[in-house]
Amino acid sequence: MSLGSIRHWVFDMDGTLTVAVHDFAAIREALGIPPEHDILTHLAALPAEEAAAKHAWLLEHERDLAIASKPAEGAVELVRELAGRGCQLAILTRNARELAHVTLEAIGLADCFAVEHILGRDEAAPKPNPDGLLKIAQAWDVSPASLVMVGDYRFDLDCGRAAGARTVLVNLPDNPWPELADWHAADCRALRSLLG
Ligand SMILES: [Mg+2]
Repeated sequence: MSLGSIRHWVFDMDGTLTVAVHDFAAIREALGIPPEHDILTHLAALPAEEAAAKHAWLLEHERDLAIASKPAEGAVELVRELAGRGCQLAILTRNARELAHVTLEAIGLADCFAVEHILGRDEAAPKPNPDGLLKIAQAWDVSPASLVMVGDYRFDLDCGRAAGARTVLVNLPDNPWPELADWHAADCRALRSLLG
């Protein structure tokens, strides 16, 4: 299957469509999370009250980041090209849906993604769990194999593989996970040129 023939595209948001600004080390330190722990997994295991307080802090912190978001190289042009070709577009993010929408508005792409096709951490089990991709495939009434998952991190690729979808790694100069990525592009501008 050629990349240009794929009609169903799912994007990670932070670091994929936007320039990565999350300072995860600083977030872990502020929330008292050990450096090697996954943030969302750690919060999920806390007593309810502490988890709620820390989730609230995270949401506020991320809102400030969302408003200041900048598009990644070539991301706006790539998404507009796909929308122009009539492709179906979705977002699967470990961020919150509301903040994903704020981010997409900030980078000028909010009109390309229907709100019901933006799945955040409250709409699906977080990546690398394939839950979100399976839900999107179901909503579009297509096989997960016809989807491509585009992301900048291993979780995006693992999620795609677990769902049986195709995978694209972007925004890393080299590909540290060749066995997990069907395509690799240095950025979204390079990815657009692979569409043919
Ligand atoms: Mg990312």
